[in-house]
Parts: sequence; structure tokens; C-alpha cells
Amino acid sequence: MTRVCGEGIVRRACHAIAALVWGLASGIVGGARALPQSALPPIVVRTYDAADIPAEYQQPALLAAAAILDRAGISVRWIRCDPDGFTAECKKPLDTYELAVRLLKLRERPSKSARPLGEANVDVVRRTGSLATVYANRVRWFADASGVDFSTVLGRAIAHEIGHLLMGTTMHPATGLMRGVWAPKEVAGEHWVFADRDALALREGWRLRADLAHSTS
Ligand SMILES: [Zn+2]
Repeated sequence: MTRVCGEGIVRRACHAIAALVWGLASGIVGGARALPQSALPPIVVRTYDAADIPAEYQQPALLAAAAILDRAGISVRWIRCDPDGFTAECKKPLDTYELAVRLLKLRERPSKSARPLGEANVDVVRRTGSLATVYANRVRWFADASGVDFSTVLGRAIAHEIGHLLMGTTMHPATGLMRGVWAPKEVAGEHWVFADRDALALREGWRLRADLAHSTS
């Protein structure tokens, strides 16, 4: 069993990192039934692609992440801040209702050892966060080892990290998309969605953030 980063984080620190790890653990994939659409406005998520992911992969990945979040009652508006699309919107400081996901490619050799696929910077005291990172090269290797489409796994990893930011927690439940360790033999299939309890926490986290944005606007 690969230890899930986040459980070992020093809790006295306001900011903690929750990491999604590629490992060899086994378990049961949580299944969430379809949930009603939320009346909340869409979350705004900027993606900063420093991994140079071709559009043919990035676009389906964002669609996959959006579909997972939509099923949990959260709609998304993406702002793609790629090098060739770096608009003025991308340069502004993040607003209360905005999140940012960085897509990075690390300089390292392919490995089957457990390494984080992504990380989310979470303020565990205020239970909020705005910045997450997904390591595209590790996601690629994991997808190849799993026999699953790269865009699909990338979308799931992005949705997982957004889950941390909206819920404001580094915790990883045993089931569902928010599990902390993903194993190649488990990742095939269509059951990678937020568990019901996580979907509820997502909507509540987003509601608090939206209320705060509204009260300060
Ligand atoms: Zn995680």
C-alpha cells in the first residue's frame, strides 16, 4: 500500500498539500448516483498549460473533468491560459470565485513507482484553496500503464484536484474519485465520479465561496 500524501502533512500548518498518488493499492470504486443540478453559478477555472499538451488531448480532458463536476452539481467555465492564448483575463489576480490549475511536465524518467499525479494547495484552517497542479507526464505514464485514454485520466486528475480546492480538505476517502491512491488495474471503467458525500461537500464549499464573492462584490 502506498502511503497517501496529505495524511502525513503537519496539521499545524495552514497550508497543506493533498496529493493524488499513482500506486498499487486496491479497493472498491465508489459510485455516485446522478445528482440534481445546482442553482449555483459556474465556477471559473483557469488552466495554465506549461506541459504543452496538444489541444486534441487537453480539450477532451477538460470536457471529462467538466462532466464529472457537472454530475456532482457543479458547472465549470474554463479559461485556458495557454502560451498562445494568454489573455488579459489570465494575468489578473485570482478572484474569490476563481480557481487555477497548472499543468506541468516534470523533467524525470518514466517510473512505475508511486508518485503524485497532482497536488492541491489547501488552507485547511479556512477550508479553501485556489491553486492546484497536475503533472501531465505522470498522468501520461499512468494512463499508458492502465490502458486508459490519456485525456480521460487527465480529466479525472483535474477534477480530483478541483475537489480538494472546493472542499478545502486534504482528506482522501476510501472510495470515489477523491480516493488518494489510484491503481492501474482500477482506473478503467466509467465509475470515476465523486461519491455522494463528496458531491455534497463540493456544492457546499462552492456555495460558501460564491456567497463570499457576492458579499464582497
Ligand atoms: Zn487528493
